[in-house]
Amino acid sequence: TAQSNDPLHVFFFPFMSPGHLIPMIDIARIFASHGAKATILATPQNITRFQTILNRDQHNNNNNNNIIDLLVLDFPYSEANLPENCENLDTLPSRNLSYNFTKAIMMLQPQAQQLVQQHQPDAIISDLNFPWTAEIARNCGIPRLVFHGTCCFSLCLSSCASQYKPHATVSSDTELFLVPGLPHPVYITMSQMPDRFFGNLGLHEFFEKFMEAERDTYGVVSNTFYEIEPEYVKHYEKLVGKKVWPVGPVSLFNTKALDIAERGNRASIDKDQVLTWLDSKKPNSVLYVCFGSLCNFSKSHLLEIGLGLESSKASFIWVIRDSYRDGFLPEGFEERVRDRALVIKGWAPQVLILNHSAVGGFMTHCGWNSVLESVTAGVPLITWPLFAEQFYNENFVLNRLGIGAGIGVKTGLAWGEEENIGVLVDRDRVEEVVTRLMGESEAVQGMRNRVSELGKLAMAAISKGGSSYVNMGLLIEDLLNLRRDRLSKSE
Ligand code: UDP
Repeated sequence: TAQSNDPLHVFFFPFMSPGHLIPMIDIARIFASHGAKATILATPQNITRFQTILNRDQHNNNNNNNIIDLLVLDFPYSEANLPENCENLDTLPSRNLSYNFTKAIMMLQPQAQQLVQQHQPDAIISDLNFPWTAEIARNCGIPRLVFHGTCCFSLCLSSCASQYKPHATVSSDTELFLVPGLPHPVYITMSQMPDRFFGNLGLHEFFEKFMEAERDTYGVVSNTFYEIEPEYVKHYEKLVGKKVWPVGPVSLFNTKALDIAERGNRASIDKDQVLTWLDSKKPNSVLYVCFGSLCNFSKSHLLEIGLGLESSKASFIWVIRDSYRDGFLPEGFEERVRDRALVIKGWAPQVLILNHSAVGGFMTHCGWNSVLESVTAGVPLITWPLFAEQFYNENFVLNRLGIGAGIGVKTGLAWGEEENIGVLVDRDRVEEVVTRLMGESEAVQGMRNRVSELGKLAMAAISKGGSSYVNMGLLIEDLLNLRRDRLSKSE
């Protein structure tokens, strides 16, 4: 059992999808750097994705001598009818297996319960996708905090939009309506709401469980920073009646090029090759194009993106997932754009690229990590949301922050639908928006100034004495107080 002067010990449960795993590992590392003891629970395949960085941390003493422990969870493939070694959403061979994947997640509870009982941590920080951590925390008499992986703006919007039940009053899917109950007037359409996301994959039943677990949660740890959305951090606290600790942008915890290049996965291209290529380009002249870790565009869509980029005349780095079959690039394409394009098949060192001065724009699906990494690097965005809460993040980028140009997609997709759907955005539109964002109009200059100011605020937030740094200390203090109370009660 913990003694009152032991360092705080926190168990971390990161969800097995890059957009959730990456920031959660960083949060655990930041905890350790503040003197707490962190234990990460993950499956073998997922551990290989971050083990090297943890080893290097230890070597560089990034964690004040606090070693991050790993505990292995065995992933129940066969019980859940999943292919062997499929332990992460980005390796799921088909979206139709999402139900099985979620079922496997649910099966992890007994293992996790046993490990918590055995090691007796002082608190659990859990991804929202593990609702059973609430029960475990309750059983063991320790607090559970939740990690959502998105910003407070989108959490507030999500909560207020679904409470409003627009289906009762709004006549069409594409009609803009005002979402009541937010600090500013925010307009969305029903087609942008993430309701369709899970489509008929049968995942709604799990959603109920997430919501239930939420009620049982001590507070929220968030990869955002106070200064980027002060009203929404406070508003979300009011909405859920719990404390929120913004501790981001957590990507800034990675300061060494090697760590950045290997964040989340081994990059499919040598980092020096990318840097040399970028060094040869003028400041703000390169557009970085990447749609996160899960999106699967159809062949015809990739063709439109490629041809639009080509006719824009901008230099670009285009990241294409390695699951795509060959042969979707237009004939002669690579030859024609040879001098101004770098195509990365597989995993890109995203944060390394965004932080190079040659990069002047990011075409993104608006996953929250990508948005925040772009803001942190002072890079304006072209927003092309696809599913989940990505339209809400786009709304934040375009209407609250004023740091991007929308590609103009109207409708969110069910997960996996982008593989089959026709062309949502054609080459002319791609060319038009890219030319605008990479140009020098006054409007774009304004975006550049605003995003670079936000980038400075992000850096200040995570630095010693900044809001996120202070929040991390306050959170640790808060959890230590809870432990003190617990220990004194049990005496
Ligand atoms: N990422 C990366 N290289 C890639 C694709 C993604 O490093 O080729 C990282 C990116 O920096 C971000 C995360 O993966 O940290 C993706 O999270 P996001 O929330 O943007 O989108 P998701 O993949 O969850 O849709």
